[in-house]
Amino acid sequence: MTAPSTPVAKNAIELSDVTLRYATKNGQIEAVRGVSLSFAPGEFVAIVGPSGCGKSTILKLVSGLMTPAVGTATVGGVAPRPTGQVGIAFQNPSLLLWRTVLQNVLLPLEVSPAHKAAYRKDPAPFVARARRMLAAVGLGGFEDKHPWELSGGMQQRANVVRALIHQPSILLLDEPFGALDAFTREELWLALQALWMGARPTVLLVTHDLREAALLADTIYVMSPRPGQITLRREVELPRPRTLEGTFTPEFSEIVRELREHIGGVRTRIRAEELMEVAS
Ligand code: ADP
Repeated sequence: MTAPSTPVAKNAIELSDVTLRYATKNGQIEAVRGVSLSFAPGEFVAIVGPSGCGKSTILKLVSGLMTPAVGTATVGGVAPRPTGQVGIAFQNPSLLLWRTVLQNVLLPLEVSPAHKAAYRKDPAPFVARARRMLAAVGLGGFEDKHPWELSGGMQQRANVVRALIHQPSILLLDEPFGALDAFTREELWLALQALWMGARPTVLLVTHDLREAALLADTIYVMSPRPGQITLRREVELPRPRTLEGTFTPEFSEIVRELREHIGGVRTRIRAEELMEVAS
């Protein structure tokens, strides 16, 4: 732990030997075991691993939605609690259907205790920022449309802008691009990288897409199947801004290969010859 005299940056995140169990009607399920993670303010961290390994559980621990059974989770040196300092975006955009894109993006400013007074007094600078950010992610001209008038990729862009509009010092992303087609996903990687490089929040991105993790993160943690444990910490030292062309270089492929290897071999053995025979 940091000595009490050393101020801990507000957005430094630390999990120390954390174990978390869910109570179910068939007894307890140990979702994560002995997880230690520590990341610096402004760092972009990705957690990768197979489905069910505890990635979302880590996000719940960092956002204060759950507390560890064993070990400690801290943000800025204190137990995390849902506050205005955190921005969150999930796989499903969850935009409010009856609000326009602009009104959706402005929503956190209406509810965040840290911003609502200033926003109510003078919304103009906040609206200007929202419009600038929407334009920067290619949604200029769509501010007054409703979510159902946008494609899935456009909705997700608005969702990410909404998570960042109140300039949170921490951004939590739970497979934000998982439901999108490959081309849209790649475009949004670049949009997210640009937004992060501008505002520099501390980011925790949960994903099962190894290329996404390697393109975006400074540090990647690989988790094992349940109970989730950290099996690898990999720093990515590729220069920024990273580009899609860069994902075809040998250095990039080597990072993805290394991550893949740590996640484990083929988990379900496909008996190809037998399948071909049955199918013929
Ligand atoms: P991931 O995000 O990697 O898919 P999760 O963190 O959602 O994994 O879940 C980790 C494990 O804990 C999974 O096996 C899941 O079934 C279990 N789990 C998650 N949430 C609950 C819950 N509310 N009750 C019981 N088990 C849960």
